Amino acid sequence: MWIAVAVYVAFAAPDQWLIPDVAPATIASRLIIAALALFSFEILRMANAKTVWLDLTCASALVVGYIGWLCPAIGTKDATAMSYYMVFGAIFMMGANLFFSFPFRLSVVTSGIVLCAFFISIFRFFPSNQAYQIAFGMFYVSCFIFTSFVNWRLNVERRKVMLNAAEARYRHWEAAERGKELLELSHTDYLTGIDNRRALDRRLDECWNAWKNERRDFCVILLDVDFFKRFNDRYGHQEGDRCLTVIANTLRTLVEQSNGVIGRYGGEEFIVVMPFESPEIAMNLAERIRKKIEHLAIGHEERPDDTSVVTVSVGIAFTREQSGEKVERIVREADLALYNAKANGRNCIRAFDPLLPRPDDNAGKLVPLLAAAIDRNLVSLVYQPIFDVVNGKARAVEALMRLRLPDGTAVSPKVFIPVAERTGAILELGRWAIKTACRDILMTDRMATVSVNVSPVQLRSPGFAASVGDILKECGISGSRLALEVTEGLDLDIQAEVLKCIADLRTIGVEMWLDDFGSGFAGLSWLRAIEFHTVKVDRTFLHDCSNQRGLTMLQDMVSLIRNRGNTILVEGVETAAQMSLLKDLRIDRVQGFHLGMPVSAELLSAA
Ligand code: C2E
Ligand code: MG
Ligand code: MG
Repeated sequence: MWIAVAVYVAFAAPDQWLIPDVAPATIASRLIIAALALFSFEILRMANAKTVWLDLTCASALVVGYIGWLCPAIGTKDATAMSYYMVFGAIFMMGANLFFSFPFRLSVVTSGIVLCAFFISIFRFFPSNQAYQIAFGMFYVSCFIFTSFVNWRLNVERRKVMLNAAEARYRHWEAAERGKELLELSHTDYLTGIDNRRALDRRLDECWNAWKNERRDFCVILLDVDFFKRFNDRYGHQEGDRCLTVIANTLRTLVEQSNGVIGRYGGEEFIVVMPFESPEIAMNLAERIRKKIEHLAIGHEERPDDTSVVTVSVGIAFTREQSGEKVERIVREADLALYNAKANGRNCIRAFDPLLPRPDDNAGKLVPLLAAAIDRNLVSLVYQPIFDVVNGKARAVEALMRLRLPDGTAVSPKVFIPVAERTGAILELGRWAIKTACRDILMTDRMATVSVNVSPVQLRSPGFAASVGDILKECGISGSRLALEVTEGLDLDIQAEVLKCIADLRTIGVEMWLDDFGSGFAGLSWLRAIEFHTVKVDRTFLHDCSNQRGLTMLQDMVSLIRNRGNTILVEGVETAAQMSLLKDLRIDRVQGFHLGMPVSAELLSAA
């Protein structure tokens, strides 16, 4: 519009040259029309008027502009100049049909009015001869037809372009919608409808970045359905799927209340990622989940332990300074915690602790081996003597389990005991160890007392105390000759059933010893909760005595245990110097390679 108006006003100059007598009137008319046209156009534009109104304004400005100039111009005395000048009326038609992008009908009407105004002027008002009327009339008509035709073509093209663009937009929208659907599908677990691993991995990345950049802590909870393969084998895959769906729904309700997200991470494994406020809050949620799933009471008769409903084991890891450079690290830590939960008898919760044992590569091979180890004669016991410091006499022996592979290779207890605990094989192996130690040592009177290591899994398994009682009765020996060594675990391990089992064992006279005291974080809790007969100080404290700091530590520890009234036993004596130090510290009992290696029962008698 602005360009058109500028051109229109610029034609004031030819007005002045060609028709100077009426120029003041035509120029005034040009200026007034130009001002009015721009004014109305800008008002509409500011009011955000629809295009149709802007088009109408431009079209009206064209018509008014032409007629507003023509009327004063044809009154000129210079008819010859004006007759030539009339040709410029065609420009208004071109403007309507070609310059503005009017809809076809509007441009035809506009240029049609210009055409009519021209004919009226030359037939009625402007003195002209017939030749002029025919030539200029034909020119105007051809111009009208030609520009209208071009306008029609342009409009058809524009329409096509518009339709194509609309279609492209629609396609784009359709693709985006389908993409959204696909994305949702690709992030959803097909069975349970909760997020799948891919979605959770993304969420984990987000949390990890938020932690790295803004120190927003989060925690990862991994849950595994206990003995799920056996569940599937017994009840079929359909029931297995149903079980997973019920568990997923239960988890979703609990986790969403805590602002977390839940996903299925693998076959029977679920993962929760949530903001971390304190270990207590995370442990609480995990415990609520564990209990809720147990209370669902989904029958599972095929479990090898004493539970008959579906339960979950839970591992938790939190962000901490050592969380490393990759988010995988925290998932791995939660996995290790889960592994430890399973090793501790399942249906329990473990938080990641850097000191906890890690799954060994051999574990896979060991599982079937341990299940058949007793029948195949692959396990045996060796005995290490324990001496009284005062009189130097051997008063007891500790039974230590040994496993060799069918090819004769020995496997360290540090490797196979955690696997046996995880698979539950420790229950049978542990009973076998107590029975064998009683037979080898006590029934043959090789030594007054034998101590056997037991793991918390055994103490938690119902009927353990009774089974020890049965063995004692069967062998015809007094309970006071048997000692059971238990290694301090996490605070969480001191559960009601463990305390009950230990109380029952004490009732039948069995001594309880606390092994490896000081090697974990919870030794003092164990000392407070349970009355131990003997406390075995972890050998690292003795080995650290070469420096003053270590020596003071051992002294402090000894006085702590002495004040509580427990018998003190220091293990790991490897040198004569260590032995004389322990004498100075008035330790009650000692054990170590310097005093006696672990040997078979037969060699023990010979020694
Ligand atoms: P533990 O109960 O603390 O057993 C003592 C470990 O220290 C034994 O290792 C023994 O061979 C070793 N040892 C003894 N004297 C010395 C010494 O002077 N220096 C050093 N460096 N080491 C010494 P072993 O037999 O490899 O057993 C490792 C752990 O495996 C045991 O630690 C115990 O926790 C577990 N374990 C062994 N047998 C059994 C079992 O029958 N049942 C259970 N649940 N755990 C067992
Ligand atoms: Mg021991
Ligand atoms: Mg020990």
